[in-house]
Amino acid sequence: MLGPVILAASRSDRMRRLITAAPGTKRVVDRFIPGERVDDVVPVIEDLTGRGLALTMDVVGEDITTREQAAAARDAYLELIDRLKPLELGERAEVSVKLSMFGQALEGGHELALANVRPVVEAAAAIGTTVTLDAEDHTTLDSMFAIHEELRRDVPQTGCVIQAYLFRTEADARRLAADGSRVRLVKGAYKEPAEVAYQQKHEIDKAYVRVLRILMAGEGYPMIGSHDPRLISIAQELARHAGRKLDEYEFQMLYGIRSEEHLRLAAEGHRMRVYTAYGTDWYGYFMRRLAEKPANLRFFVRSMVTK
Ligand code: FAD
Repeated sequence: MLGPVILAASRSDRMRRLITAAPGTKRVVDRFIPGERVDDVVPVIEDLTGRGLALTMDVVGEDITTREQAAAARDAYLELIDRLKPLELGERAEVSVKLSMFGQALEGGHELALANVRPVVEAAAAIGTTVTLDAEDHTTLDSMFAIHEELRRDVPQTGCVIQAYLFRTEADARRLAADGSRVRLVKGAYKEPAEVAYQQKHEIDKAYVRVLRILMAGEGYPMIGSHDPRLISIAQELARHAGRKLDEYEFQMLYGIRSEEHLRLAAEGHRMRVYTAYGTDWYGYFMRRLAEKPANLRFFVRSMVTK
């Protein structure tokens, strides 16, 4: 029951001020976000890829309020891609973006986000890698899918995310699977109303499997974004059933969560991509990680009262 409360707090400026200033917060944040600057994460990229893992890099930030912030977000991604270039990792270091950080919610935001994300997608393609558009709350998704379609005209490998908890997702999955898109399937991390989304874990898990079946049977490239051991073995089974080879789908997990499982799946020959976020505006990302697992909140509260 704590999850929805934490998710509501993730959108509160007052809570943001309190939590970012609290002693002990940083220690817990570090578990999920390995640095604030691109210089901090280059060694992390080298370490993880050296251990046979792939990455998708996220510069944290969302819900910006000015066009200047949107342009700064674009520039932060261009800087990241610039730093990835000499590492010559190609698709092993991919990029994930949130369109709200590129100005999607501002006036004229759809066009603005498209204009800001396009150079990032082109720069990524120029160094042999791809961009995936993260899925945010349900009100942003029509715009996100339209931008995804537009970007794919020139850079077809551009990916997007769909969320199993939304009723609309089976239809989105059918369209994207028929189009041959790269698609990351996740359960969904935002607080969504009962009119648009399943609320119970067992309903979300069942929806996840239904959508996964569609993706595995389709023409695209499924990216299984989950730490759930049951869903991971179902995904392996569905991939076998669909006759997919190990390089025709991949698993994705978040940095700092079930890290031993990342290595286990990679050692089995699977493509395993670690979503690695960095940057200073970590509040929203961090709060969603707390909401996903009550034990994280207990650990966080303990770290605030101990030195
Ligand atoms: P759960 O049932 O939540 O977790 C299964 C097990 O994994 C838990 O029992 C626990 O052991 C472990 N676990 C899960 N979360 C945590 C945590 N925070 N801390 C510690 N242990 C944990 N959501 C979006 O809405 N949009 C996106 O674009 C998006 N991108 C994502 C990208 C990747 C690569 C991943 C892995 C997730 C992404 N998510 C995104 C988040 C996703 O929607 C879920 O909230 C999150 O993955 C938790 O769901 P789960 O499938 O891991 O299953």
